[in-house]
Amino acid sequence: MYQDKYHVLVSGGSRGIGAGIVKYYSERGYAVSYFYKNAPGPVGDNILPIQCDVTDESMVNDAYAKVIDAFGAPEYLVYCSGISLTGLSDTFVYDDYRRVMDTNFGGFFLLANKVIPSMVHNHFGGIVAISSMWGQVGASCEALYSSSKGAIDAYVKSLAKELGPSGIRVNAVSPGVIDTDMMKEYSDEDKAALIDETPLMRMGTPDDVAAAVYYLTSGSSSFITGQILGVNGGFLI
Ligand code: NDP
Repeated sequence: MYQDKYHVLVSGGSRGIGAGIVKYYSERGYAVSYFYKNAPGPVGDNILPIQCDVTDESMVNDAYAKVIDAFGAPEYLVYCSGISLTGLSDTFVYDDYRRVMDTNFGGFFLLANKVIPSMVHNHFGGIVAISSMWGQVGASCEALYSSSKGAIDAYVKSLAKELGPSGIRVNAVSPGVIDTDMMKEYSDEDKAALIDETPLMRMGTPDDVAAAVYYLTSGSSSFITGQILGVNGGFLI
């Protein structure tokens, strides 16, 4: 068991933003366990990849037991698992609703319930969820995705109120346009238009998001809870 450092559990740590977060914490000496659905990503001595589809409660139970066996209860949870879905809202079917909500929000609900008891017991810990700026303002043709992120934001604020007295801080990072696989469905023209709308004139990187997540679990943010921190290059001001 890797006991002498803080332990962060990252859900959705195999690719993109989550892989950036796994590496960021690991490089700073944390023990990092992470969930992936299809194929593992970052590896290392202090990194434990575990296959877990967060939409399946029994898989979450089994995977969390493996996390505890290997590294003990995490001091920090970063929830990053997510899928996008584009289309006109009246073409979405109930299965789409379940898939998007269960992945983007349901998994967060399940995992928060796993980590909260030990954090409360220790009177120490923190939770950060990766939301999206579309959760704050809504996106045309991404209604389910935007709603799942709006649910994340409301849950984060509620948990912050509930857990603050127990010394647990809960925040969200709300990225703008970040250069990952999720952007692959966009054409070069669409990406150029999005960059044009971003005052800092570029797409963000997984490291831009990881640095903000790290800040929110560090002592530097000790009086910050219940906040939705935009990491969007000024896209949404
Ligand atoms: P990627 O598609 O690159 O990565 C998605 C991650 O989520 C992967 O690790 C994937 O695992 C995991 N995941 C998906 N479904 C499940 C599941 N059922 N169970 C467990 N893990 C799952 O996306 P990004 O890195 O871009 O996005 C990460 C988060 O950031 C998402 O929540 C997304 O909504 C959010 N975000 C992204 C933005 C962007 O511009 N890229 C902007 C705003 C928010 P696997 O590799 O196994 O498939």
